[in-house]
Amino acid sequence: MSQGPITVAGVAIEPGERRDLAPTASESYTGDRTTLPMAVINGVGPGPRVFVTAAVHGDEINGIEVCRRLLDDLDPATLRGAVTVIPIVNVLGVQINSRYLPDRRDLNRSFPGSHTGSMAARIARLVSDEVIDGADVGIDLHTAANHRTNVPQVRVDVEDAAARSLAVTFGAPFVLTAKLRPGSLRAVAGERGVPVLTFEGGGPLRFDRDAIEVAHRGVLRVLQRLEMIDEAPPPSHPHPMVLNASRWLRAERGGLLELHARPGVHVRPGDQLWTTSSPLGEERASVEATDEGYVIGSTTLPLVQPGEAVLHIALPGDRLPAEDDPSDEEDDDLDDSW
Ligand SMILES: [Zn+2]
Repeated sequence: MSQGPITVAGVAIEPGERRDLAPTASESYTGDRTTLPMAVINGVGPGPRVFVTAAVHGDEINGIEVCRRLLDDLDPATLRGAVTVIPIVNVLGVQINSRYLPDRRDLNRSFPGSHTGSMAARIARLVSDEVIDGADVGIDLHTAANHRTNVPQVRVDVEDAAARSLAVTFGAPFVLTAKLRPGSLRAVAGERGVPVLTFEGGGPLRFDRDAIEVAHRGVLRVLQRLEMIDEAPPPSHPHPMVLNASRWLRAERGGLLELHARPGVHVRPGDQLWTTSSPLGEERASVEATDEGYVIGSTTLPLVQPGEAVLHIALPGDRLPAEDDPSDEEDDDLDDSW
């Protein structure tokens, strides 16, 4: 809870005040200071402390625009509680349009971090100490990884009913419950008692208008639900589908890919998902759904080889299909964020 001044990165922010801070995150080869820009809005009234982070993966830039819009909306003269907004957490990855840091580490596997560790660990530690500690709720904005796209969705800890309820309030088409991944911002915040909603929407290195709109509304709706602001826009999707398991379906044949089940659609057993053809026009594969589910993500490449992930299907109910491959859970290549 925020009542009175709060201190972030050594700066005291009074009630009714917004301060834009730039603590040192790293230094360049030329010795210049690299900062971690953040805005802290301390409201006039008491209320929860919330953080909103984006671009933990440096090529996942939709959230940067969401943060910019959010900062336009938030007024310290009417806010209750405090909001810290970090539009670009991976300040080194963003410079090189990369998911990873220049040393190839994944910042979202480097929390809580340390003062003496890798580049990633040092940035993670700064965020852990200054933003996660002392917060009541966090929202972390992501997109799909390279050559993939995600339908707007919120991912929350399967054990956390309160976070799931906030995720439904967010109003994205889908809420996906999942176990926490070691070293992720969400996992470390969760260990410290701070529930985090992970938003996923669109793909890397482009602005997806729909995903940005869903996330912008969603963040405002969560702040209203927490009674920090009086008004919020209606939900993008009034009845989000809550799903408890998902898996990637992979190609068995190589060639040209034609997707028949687009992201967002509901599929039933027997529905055609995709066909693969050779470049000379021979049909190599026609893949049908074996389970009921929802397409929550897909490849954006029109060419596939055996083993490549094509569609991410979320399944209604509490079950994983018998043929689910648990190794997917640890597959960093498929790992959007969480
Ligand atoms: Zn991500």
